[in-house]
Formats: sequence, structure tokens, C-alpha cells
Amino acid sequence: MSVVDVNEVEDHERFRAELASIQPDGRRRWIFARKPRGRFTRWREVVSAILVSFLVSAPFVHVRGHQFLLLNIIDREFVLFGMPFWPNDFYLVAVLFLTGIVTFVVITASIGRIWCGWLCPQTVFMEMVFRRIEWAINGGPVEQAKRKHGPWNADRLWRTGLTIGVFFAISFVIANVFLSYVLSSNTLLRYIYDGPLAHTELFAGLVFFTFVFFMVFYRFREQACLIACPYGRYMSALVDESTVAVTYDFVRGEQRAKWGKDDAQMQRKALSEGRAIEHRQGHGDCIDCHQCVTVCPTGIDIRNGIQLECVNCTACIDACDEVMNKVGLQPGLVRYTSLRSVEAGGKHPFLTRRVIAYSIVWVLLMSVVGTLFAIRKDLDVVVLRQEGTTWVTSTDGVANFYRLQLINKTGLPMPYHIVITSPPGYELKMLGMPSQIASMQILKGRFIITRTRQASVSSHQAVVLKVVYADGQQQQVETSFLAP
Ligand code: SF4
Ligand code: SF4
Repeated sequence: MSVVDVNEVEDHERFRAELASIQPDGRRRWIFARKPRGRFTRWREVVSAILVSFLVSAPFVHVRGHQFLLLNIIDREFVLFGMPFWPNDFYLVAVLFLTGIVTFVVITASIGRIWCGWLCPQTVFMEMVFRRIEWAINGGPVEQAKRKHGPWNADRLWRTGLTIGVFFAISFVIANVFLSYVLSSNTLLRYIYDGPLAHTELFAGLVFFTFVFFMVFYRFREQACLIACPYGRYMSALVDESTVAVTYDFVRGEQRAKWGKDDAQMQRKALSEGRAIEHRQGHGDCIDCHQCVTVCPTGIDIRNGIQLECVNCTACIDACDEVMNKVGLQPGLVRYTSLRSVEAGGKHPFLTRRVIAYSIVWVLLMSVVGTLFAIRKDLDVVVLRQEGTTWVTSTDGVANFYRLQLINKTGLPMPYHIVITSPPGYELKMLGMPSQIASMQILKGRFIITRTRQASVSSHQAVVLKVVYADGQQQQVETSFLAP
């Protein structure tokens, strides 16, 4: 096995051997990204605002008594979109989990890391919240770099202090939201009301998570996507040349070359005369301005092709479009497209056989999920004969004992009663059971069925019971009755 010596790699191939954010000696190369402007950034701002609002409010919204989203691993309580999942719903969670993975596979194989760029909380918070605060306090990339490499004067001290304070405060809010997903928002609000001293262990956990979030957004940043996130790693196995991703159109862009004075004059003339700019002899449309690199939050050059570090944030599309508009060339030199499509001049089909095959599996799994949800019940009943018993005789007739389990998956207490629908001549008597099932509880108890003297005489009789709930739902269950 040969080992590649990084020092022997040609400069233009260096990106293959090194991470843009790590220097050859292993030290961090800090990325000072420029603020992007353009249509994709505006759309991402809208999507991010919706996502952050949803993420923060979801634990505080309740549907039929359930928290909208709850992932209480400690008490094994899970609620997704207001629907509670119980340990006996494990099969459903497993199918959902599998469907989630296949959904990721289908999406990544067809439209790349759309999740990373648009929906991942790490990117949304980093690019739309924390980096914006940093720009507001510390200015653009040039000012930030100057300050970082300059002395610790008053200006640097107050800006750094303010940045740390604001980052820490937002991280504290995020840690609280995170806890409301794990503990439930009601528990969290109760703990807040009680004060930190009443729950010191929990408060210590809260400070710990605040610190973790703070470090992720203040220091770790793009390294979380590069080193810690498994999805970024798997992505390389899922995408191919047909995957639509943020791509540089090298057919149109190469040979890249900076604009000289003549080019600028020619451009001004063409623009003033309202005609399209002429292409420079022997050169492509890329004017090698590096604007796509300066906005990149992971510090890479999209012109090198699809790279592991690219989170498909679209900032380079906006940056390049801005340049193209300024110089009078067609925007879209960097755009959402596939490598094959670039090579084929935009004529490569979006739906490849691989994507179609994945999509069929996905549709099948979604049908299974849909069916399982359709037949799933919020209220359930289990009737079993009392173990080790057959019958007893008394002056009233012959009696059998049963065990009863009533499951209430709703967020409300549920009154109920049970009647025998057939055959006639059988009577049911509850043995000290409460008349309602508490919310999210399994009510266990016993009852007795007595065959009166008038009923038909059979040594093995099927008995049908009906459970009637206060909300109008009914369930029938059949059991057997034994007699001498
Ligand atoms: S290369 Fe473009 S899309 Fe990829 S991370 Fe950088 S700016 Fe975002
Ligand atoms: S912003 Fe566009 S024109 Fe400028 S270097 Fe990047 S790809 Fe080339």
C-alpha cells in the first residue's frame, strides 16, 4: 500500500489530500465566510425561520393531551406528531425508522445533501443564527480575520466577550428546548418554576448541554459536519454522477481566467449597447474571482467538483450568480445539476434506474406504514381466562374468572363499561375495577361471568363482550366460557 505524501501533491490537486479547514500540520484553518446574498439565501432564510419556529414550539404544543413531539428515552415515552407510541408499538417504530433511512437514501441519491443545506439543525442554527450574530458583532470576514490575528485590544475584547455571551445565551435556550423534547415541556416548566437548587442534577445536565452546544457553534462549526456527522460520510456512498447537487458547470466555465482591463472595457461597452457580452477567446465564463470560495462556510472551492465537505448550502450559487449578473453573463455557472447533465449539456435524465428502484422500495414501505397506522388503535382491550381455573358453581349458577387489560393511549382519562352481547343468560360482574382508564395507562383487573340457570347448557360456550368507551368507540372481544 502506498502512502500519499501531502507535500508531493500538486497545488491544484491539494483539495484531494487535505481538508480546507485543516492545515497540513494538523492545526485548524479558521473559515471566515462572507455573507451570501441572492434568491437561494432568501429561500433558505424563510425555510430556516419556519424550522426554528417549529423546533422551538413543537414541545409546547399539545394535541389531545399529548406533547406534539416527545422523545423521552428515560421513561420510554415517545410521541410523534401528537401520536403516542408504546413499547408494544415497537414494530411500528422499527418500520418508521427503516422508512426514514430509505427516505434519506432516495433523497440523497436523487437530489444530494438537500437535508444538510436546508434542513439540518446544525446548518440552520450555524448559518442562519450564530454566523449572522457573528457578522453583526464582528463585521465581515476581513475585519474578523484582522481582529483574530491582531492584538487583544479593547475593541477585540468587547466584541469577543459580547459574541461569547450571546452565543452562550442562545445555547442555553437550545439546551432547554432539547430538554423539553426529552423530559417533556410540562416537566421542564415545573423544574424551572421550582428553581435550579431544587433539581441540581438536572441543572448540571442543562449547563453541560449548554456548553456542548456553545462549543459546537462557537468553535467546532463545520468540523461537526466533517468529523462527527455520519450522514456526511455515507453521502459519498449514495451519490453518483447523476445525483443533482450544487455543481460547477466546468464545460461552460473552463478555461477559467481572470478578467483583464480589455475584458472589462469590452463588457462595459457591450452592456451600454444592450448586447450580450462576447466570450473571451479560448476562455470559459468563470472569471476566477473566487467569490464562490469566499462565501463557502466549509472553505472549499466548488469548482473542484463534488467534495465531502460540501453541505450543499447554495451560498456559492448565489455568489456566482451575483458575479455573472455584474459582468453581464448568464447566471447558473454554479447551479443545482448533475455531473452527467453538465457533460451532456443539460440533457441527462433526472430519474435514473437506481433512483427509480429506491423509490419503489420507498413507496412499498410507505404503504406498509400507512396500513399499520390505519389499523392501529388508541384504545385496546385484552381478555384472558384466569390461569389455572375452569369453573365454580354457586346458587346463582356456573361462574368463570377472567383477567382484563384495558389500554388507553390517548392523553385523556377514558370512562368505559363492558356488556355481554351474546349469548343471552350470561352476566358480567367487575371485581373491584375502576370505571375509567387513566390517560396513557394500562388498566389491569379481573371480572367474573356467571351463567344463569335459564341460559343454554353447553360445556364450552363462546361469549362475546363489548367494551363501550365514553367517546363512543366500541370494541368487541370474544372469550370462552367453561361449564361442567
Ligand atoms: S461549495 Fe457551495 S454549496 Fe458547498 S458548502 Fe461551499 S458554499 Fe455551500
Ligand atoms: S464565483 Fe463564479 S466566476 Fe467567480 S470563481 Fe466562482 S465560479 Fe468562477
